[in-house]
Amino acid sequence: MDRGIEAAVDETCFPLKVFLGHVRELADQNLNYLFIPRLVSIESKSYICPKFMGVPDIVRAAIPHLPPILDTIIDISKTDKYLKNDIIKVGRLFNARDKHIRQAYHHACQELKFCRALAGQGCTMAEAIKIWEGENIDISSETDLKIGVLGHGYSLYDESISMNIINRLRNMGCKVLLPEALERLSVETEAATMPKRVFWTLGRKMVGSALHMAKRDDVDGIIYVACFGCGPDSMIGEIIERKLRDQAFMLITIDEHTGENGLVTRLEAFCDMLRRRAVVCENNLPAHG
Ligand code: SF4
Repeated sequence: MDRGIEAAVDETCFPLKVFLGHVRELADQNLNYLFIPRLVSIESKSYICPKFMGVPDIVRAAIPHLPPILDTIIDISKTDKYLKNDIIKVGRLFNARDKHIRQAYHHACQELKFCRALAGQGCTMAEAIKIWEGENIDISSETDLKIGVLGHGYSLYDESISMNIINRLRNMGCKVLLPEALERLSVETEAATMPKRVFWTLGRKMVGSALHMAKRDDVDGIIYVACFGCGPDSMIGEIIERKLRDQAFMLITIDEHTGENGLVTRLEAFCDMLRRRAVVCENNLPAHG
């Protein structure tokens, strides 16, 4: 994180600063290539945030003397027919046989499906990868609260960026419900109730997940973890907050200055409030009504 902050311009969002730090760490290791795909779109008629689209250029501008960057464009907003060709092009740098490259791609897709299935059972994506790597991870514990936690995967599941918010909640006796554990159809159905379609993939997932969680009787409260400097979050967080006005909801914005103690205090206060409301049967309306 510190190395990324040194390289980034001030307006950069927090996760991108961390990304730049990762690149600097990797670049120190005498690499032949750096693979930094240019993510434009990962689904039909939707787009990834513009900063993702510019990541290879941002990296080149911020960090000198890098190995060659493989900036394959991933854009399936209109069609995915070029994706396989692009994968073959990258694969040919390492393996001469297209058949092997295709096999590797299909194998990777299968493994990803396996990790997603684990995430669907309540693991974070980071935990799913650890299980995939053979680690034994037990996420079951005694809980009396169920809290929906939303955020972009690269910040929420990074234990440093999110300050381990998910495990902290589990240690406070909460079961955590994550966007990956929700059925995609339910999320899309809720997102479609917005008056205007949210065309950012992650933003739509957040709005749909929040609205879906808000309707569930088994969810006691919802926390949205946003990152400072995030353009889409500045609007999506606000939309969610307005839509969930009569729910127990907390927006946490994280950046490199966020203090651990402050975060823990807010989480404890949120859990205490939910438990108190469960006992004295208060509703979730704020004091101003
Ligand atoms: S969505 Fe937000 S946090 Fe993610 S890269 Fe874009 S600006 Fe940064």
